[in-house]
Amino acid sequence: MKIAILPGDGIGPEIVAQALRVVEVLRGEGLAVTTESAPMGGAGHDAAGDPLPEATLALARSADAILMGAVGGPKYDTLPREKRPEQGLLRLRKDLALFANLRPAILYPELAAASTLKPEVVAGLDIVIVRELTGDIYFGQPRGRRKNAAGDDEGFDTMHYSVPEIERIARVGFEAARKRGKKLCSVDKANVLDTSILWRETVTRLAAQYPEVALSHMYVDNAAMQLVRNPKQFDVIVTGNMFGDILSDEASMLAGSIGMLPSASLDARQKGLYEPIHGSAPDLAGRDQANPLATILSLAMLFRYSLARADVGDRIEAAVRKVLAQGHRTGDIALPGEQVIGTRAMGDAVVAALRDS
Ligand code: NAD
Repeated sequence: MKIAILPGDGIGPEIVAQALRVVEVLRGEGLAVTTESAPMGGAGHDAAGDPLPEATLALARSADAILMGAVGGPKYDTLPREKRPEQGLLRLRKDLALFANLRPAILYPELAAASTLKPEVVAGLDIVIVRELTGDIYFGQPRGRRKNAAGDDEGFDTMHYSVPEIERIARVGFEAARKRGKKLCSVDKANVLDTSILWRETVTRLAAQYPEVALSHMYVDNAAMQLVRNPKQFDVIVTGNMFGDILSDEASMLAGSIGMLPSASLDARQKGLYEPIHGSAPDLAGRDQANPLATILSLAMLFRYSLARADVGDRIEAAVRKVLAQGHRTGDIALPGEQVIGTRAMGDAVVAALRDS
């Protein structure tokens, strides 16, 4: 099993280093996993004049899975668009055909007070949003600006999904639900949009192949409301690109800190790019203050989804739960008065918990 490691910029190298220490522990126990690092984003630009250097892309293609830190930073903000760090990430996603974005929103009971919602509403929250990433109104043609019949300027975009596109993302949703709480909620706007009517028909038809998963449907406006009213009713949500963009950001806030949330972007064969949902946090870079747990939890997802080692993923997640239960807190998840530890000390705590498990 080979993991490509792309630390990126800002806090990326610091948080990825802690995830690599977790890999070291597993390797020490005999797990056959190798890692190889390459520059990406601003670091790619510095090393090779390209945010996605050819050698980095070749490594990503050859690996079984990719772990990334984050890219970007003020130093690169004035570069021409094609040289910007985020362009490297977009190209990588496109090249690897990563069409399914999985974002868990988990609120560990110990962090319930860090959420903006009442603890009883969110404590123990554990949901996954599966968002389609390469289609929908964000990519649909035609799009643009024109004059309408009245001579007014207007903008227009095109929403569309084909049956194969809906089927492949729905399968990811059903598979994720099958491995978890066996409930899948498909979110659409079938009361208004033709695209959504086809979406709902297609997901419903596919459900016959997953008899162990209970499928429900919800309109996106209701889903936005239910996520803050009673988020624990959900297990896995599957939805299109635009609805998923909005709902996954909403759900991430339920879980308190951005420093806790992992993500996966998968292709049709479960190969994936795993990264924390946060950015490169230039304000914290080099200060040993960033929370490495989102990156370590991304590594847990990597083992579960791309390397078919759910047992290893479970162990890593259990180690994270344990350090939180022990009271270890980086600045972003500490309540006033709680003792704050640094990035490396949080890594130490996870490594110790993993060794004990
Ligand atoms: P950000 O996510 O980097 O930071 C937002 C806030 O969250 C900051 O206050 C930061 O200190 C805090 N934060 C982020 N990660 C944290 C962690 N692990 N522990 C503790 N606190 C954390 O977003 P931003 O400031 O808008 O963007 C900074 C740079 O990151 C920009 O260049 C942006 O383009 C880039 N970015 C990259 C990605 C990615 O690589 N996928 C995603 C978003 C933003």
